[in-house]
Amino acid sequence: MAKLLTSRDLARVSCSSCEGCGECCRGMDDTIHLDPYDLYKLEKHLGKSFDELFDVRIGLHVEDGLVLPHLLMSGDNVACTFLGPDGRCGIHDFRPGFCRLFPLGRRYEDRSFGYFVVDGACPRPCTKVKISKYLEIPGIGIYERYINTWHYFCRDVQDQLRASGDEEFIQRTALRILEIFFTAPYDTDRPFYPQFEERIAPFI
Ligand code: SF4
Ligand code: SF4
Repeated sequence: MAKLLTSRDLARVSCSSCEGCGECCRGMDDTIHLDPYDLYKLEKHLGKSFDELFDVRIGLHVEDGLVLPHLLMSGDNVACTFLGPDGRCGIHDFRPGFCRLFPLGRRYEDRSFGYFVVDGACPRPCTKVKISKYLEIPGIGIYERYINTWHYFCRDVQDQLRASGDEEFIQRTALRILEIFFTAPYDTDRPFYPQFEERIAPFI
């Protein structure tokens, strides 16, 4: 298995020949998952609530008992609703973390994670770039700590749900987490991370 990379490492991921290919924005079904920070950014930049985005831009799927959001695909070419006719992303500056990551993946091990390049994911030739520069996320350190916390929080809850086997408890927990982290509007005049800490504090 290839060695995991950190955001300080270089990786061959920058497809400078992109030019509206848009292949990674079509036919993705429910796989472009959204985390709470993605929701915060969509609310902030589009000026819309979760409820207004739901079923138009965002769908919900079940993942090991949790109900979590993803970007919707629609139309004849089953494309992300943010993909423009020119093959360009209409929300490039505040696109979700999954979109920024592509064609990188994250592998989680020992309560931490590292990056790897998904072989053959991008059909165009890619050049080497530092991962933190490629992701273009301000405060990469705090972002990575948040991503790790969110991932392991979800994983721990999923383990509890699986162990409980109690359908009523699973549904109640899933809806509570959906509401706390996604459907309850964020204050977009305040930074995201303190709000995330407030929301997750009762659970840890
Ligand atoms: S598949 Fe590769 S070249 Fe095409 S839009 Fe996505 S990242 Fe760019
Ligand atoms: S948000 Fe932008 S980059 Fe992400 S799938 Fe949609 S069009 Fe593509």
